[in-house]
Amino acid sequence: MSKNYFIIPIFVPHLGCPHDCVFCNQRRITGLSTDVTAEYVEQTIEEYISTFPEGKIHVEVAFYGGSFTGIDMEVQKNLLSVPLKYKAKNKIDGIRLSTRPDYIDEKVLNLLKKYKVDTIELGVQSLKDEVLNKSGRGHSSRQVFDAAKLIKDYGFNLGLQMMIGLVGDTKENAIYTAKEFIKLDPYCVRIYPTLVIKDTYLEKMYNKGVYNPLSLEESIDITTDLLMLFEYHNINVIRVGLQPTDNIRLGRDVVIGPFHSSYRQLVESNIYKIILKDYLDTMDKAIFFNKTISIKTNSKSISNIAGQRSNNIKYLIDRYKLNNIKIYGEDMPEGSIYICIEDLEINIDKKEMIEMYLKRQAII
Ligand code: SF4
Repeated sequence: MSKNYFIIPIFVPHLGCPHDCVFCNQRRITGLSTDVTAEYVEQTIEEYISTFPEGKIHVEVAFYGGSFTGIDMEVQKNLLSVPLKYKAKNKIDGIRLSTRPDYIDEKVLNLLKKYKVDTIELGVQSLKDEVLNKSGRGHSSRQVFDAAKLIKDYGFNLGLQMMIGLVGDTKENAIYTAKEFIKLDPYCVRIYPTLVIKDTYLEKMYNKGVYNPLSLEESIDITTDLLMLFEYHNINVIRVGLQPTDNIRLGRDVVIGPFHSSYRQLVESNIYKIILKDYLDTMDKAIFFNKTISIKTNSKSISNIAGQRSNNIKYLIDRYKLNNIKIYGEDMPEGSIYICIEDLEINIDKKEMIEMYLKRQAII
């Protein structure tokens, strides 16, 4: 039986940040700090643990907020000492945090090793220097490669976060970044579409007409290709949607951009739409005419196959002049797809179809 994962999120807001990322509304002051205390960390861990079920579970404490290792070292030690204590008592299993690539060096990693951190996620955003420069990131792609190597050399799990639709970004640049990520063999990846947040330099650029965010459709299209590429290479994409500083208040802080509350589902559904269309296109359309087809899959995949508001079902019924499509959840591995048309039962290999699509798009 596999373990259920539980995350105890501890958001470590900065009281300031010396950087100028155009998409971020962090006020620029020198030096990073935070008002999160060890007492708060302990209280949060206790609160979460009290709600977790008994039995086989995997619990991780995650320090979110983007630049953990930029905070004063004494404050880092103080905050990390709490999950360390819980780990020693086997009350939690892992510790993870996110930071900038230029806040990684041997001194930092020695400290994180001492405090038994398991996973370090880097906010990379892009591996094209032009995009990094135009986005005011203040670090180069070289620094990302160096930090990633050092993190792996020290034996930490490496997480990588990328954004799409940044200033100067293109679909080709995003695919380039994803391919470079794959070469770094990360433990996990997050993909964030760029949103225009109030009180950011990006908002000014948008108002002046020098920056246009991706439409939701464009964003879904790019993310679909990225997710397929990562899935093809067996890389775990743990988050799709929102953005790294996602303590943003939705509705109040987002000026414009490809935001959708079910963003990942839209992407996953699009993948199934492509797979089913590509497969059924290889068959004689006369087989389907006015037939009801059944799709058998893992229960968790039903809504992704059907699509939001059953859009995939409607699309396929219309395209192949079907009478109806029924989807059944069965006890089978995630990603399994069986199509039944009268006596015919066809097993669609998701990975094979993804490979076919990526080759057709000249992505692999
Ligand atoms: S994204 Fe992170 S590094 Fe960039 S300005 Fe915001 S808080 Fe600072």
